[in-house]
Amino acid sequence: MKKVNRYDHEGIWTIAEIRRGKLVGVSFELLAWGRKLADKLNTTLSSVVLGSKVSRDELRELVERGADRVYLIDHEKLSVFIPDLQARILKKLVEDEKPEIIIASATTTGRTLMPYLASLLGTGLTADCTDLDVDPERRLLLQTRPAIGGNVMATIITPDHRPQMATVRPRSRRPLRREVNRRGEIIEVKIEIESLESKYKWLDFIPDETSESPIQEADVIIAGGKGMKDGKNFELLFELARLLNGAVGASRSAVDMGWIPYSHQIGLSGKTVSPRLYIAFGISGAVQHIAGMSSSELIVSINKDPDANIFRISDFGIIGDALEILPLMIRKIKNMVEGNDEVG
Ligand SMILES: Cc1cc2nc3c(=O)[nH]c(=O)nc-3n(C[C@H](O)[C@H](O)[C@H](O)COP(=O)(O)OP(=O)(O)OC[C@H]3O[C@@H](n4cnc5c(N)ncnc54)[C@H](O)[C@@H]3O)c2cc1C
Repeated sequence: MKKVNRYDHEGIWTIAEIRRGKLVGVSFELLAWGRKLADKLNTTLSSVVLGSKVSRDELRELVERGADRVYLIDHEKLSVFIPDLQARILKKLVEDEKPEIIIASATTTGRTLMPYLASLLGTGLTADCTDLDVDPERRLLLQTRPAIGGNVMATIITPDHRPQMATVRPRSRRPLRREVNRRGEIIEVKIEIESLESKYKWLDFIPDETSESPIQEADVIIAGGKGMKDGKNFELLFELARLLNGAVGASRSAVDMGWIPYSHQIGLSGKTVSPRLYIAFGISGAVQHIAGMSSSELIVSINKDPDANIFRISDFGIIGDALEILPLMIRKIKNMVEGNDEVG
């Protein structure tokens, strides 16, 4: 049965992102978050798309990955990201449709747009959440993020204003599988945009070639922590990663020891990753590390301490010495790759 909603706001929205005319992956990750919340609140999930000449196939994919409704605002002025313009368009749509929750990704786009929108709407915003949930009784969004320098995880609520707004870290949830027969509505919204002026002028797009480390794109991550004992042992992690066509990640302790550059750090103060396979060697599983990798599809951990926290979130655990097990794994996989050993 539906719970009483003391506000006249209803439904959950996610803000899709478009780059160079195409929806980007975070749009689908947000729907996975949104679906979980919408089902708990027994309400609808909508994805909002602001763009120019967006193809119907792209919009269908939003439905196939969890949206009940897609709001499309299509205008040539939206072919590039102009924050104040998008915020004012969204404000109008929010005032008309009254969603109770809006979530966006904590990407550069989401981090720029959402504060603009929250201030226009006079509501709260929790930025850079690592977890989202709802209290269905009070219809409150539970927005969890690190606080006090990352030493505690705080859960923040917005009890007195609607909509409740949050940005969530990219790759903190995997997109839902495509369901090709899933039904949903695509609504083309007409808003007067022609007359809207912006104080920004789009000059050019220059990609930052250095910002994206391959670990965020990798399907397989081989990660090492302080239990690897020495920087030179990381060579073994790189060797296993090469064999599995993966990338090497690390805990902060390993980075602090100077064993591997910061661009490989996974966790609260490093990168958030969501590979299909995450193998952790000599990592204890501190809450700050887990915050960056817990959405991995399959987690395998090797640690000599049977009580290590990492085992609590692992699908498979091996209690043993990483420096003995790692060379064995490399040899085994090499043999399999070379066809000398067919047994896994
Ligand atoms: C604000 C803040 C932000 C932080 N951000 C991050 C972050 O982004 N990422 C991050 O990782 N941490 C972060 N940390 C640090 C975090 O709290 C931990 O200190 C860190 O993750 C521990 O790294 P570790 O697991 O490699 O080392 P340890 O906790 O020392 O664990 C080493 C593990 O290796 C095992 N081990 C030892 N020898 C072997 C062996 N031979 N074979 C197998 N296992 C062995 C031990 O049993 C142990 O479990 C942050 C902390 C703070 C306060």
